[in-house]
Amino acid sequence: MNEELERALAELPLYTYFWVKPEELVFSQRVRTVCEKECPMYGRTWACPPAVGSVETCREKCLGYRNCLVIGTVAEEVDVTDLAATLDTREPHEKITNQVRDLLRERGEKPYVLSSEACAICSRCAYLDGLPCRMPGKMHPCVESHGIVLTDTLERHDLPFQYGGDVVTWYSLLFY
Ligand code: SF4
Repeated sequence: MNEELERALAELPLYTYFWVKPEELVFSQRVRTVCEKECPMYGRTWACPPAVGSVETCREKCLGYRNCLVIGTVAEEVDVTDLAATLDTREPHEKITNQVRDLLRERGEKPYVLSSEACAICSRCAYLDGLPCRMPGKMHPCVESHGIVLTDTLERHDLPFQYGGDVVTWYSLLFY
């Protein structure tokens, strides 16, 4: 399927895409600790810890798939000192992530998608009210929520993780 899928991926405005085996990914409790200590979204959505389960649970889930497609997008000419402007670049990335998810679904796969930051579909996440996620088929936990050290994977592919200058990069992982 990959050749035919690659032709469809090549038509999207992706900065990069590549496949890794899920077992090549590095999972670390340290990433989870950063979520807990430094992210204001910790404990605020179904897409974040602790709702996503332990790092070991997340790892087992990811390793239950045969393939992991990594996709990246880039936004240029962004004032990265402006947090709101930076976060505005996330929505186009999420749209492309959903397009790639749909490409996989159209090919009979049931992808498990990890994407950028916390879920922002609802103005107030149902998690805060002790209710189930309203759109489990649409929401994507964030990559870091699973303890994945994405920098390790990207470095092995000579790709940057952090934005710099006026460029913002976003990544998603699609397991299938
Ligand atoms: S879809 Fe809504 S309820 Fe579900 S994780 Fe996202 S914000 Fe929360």
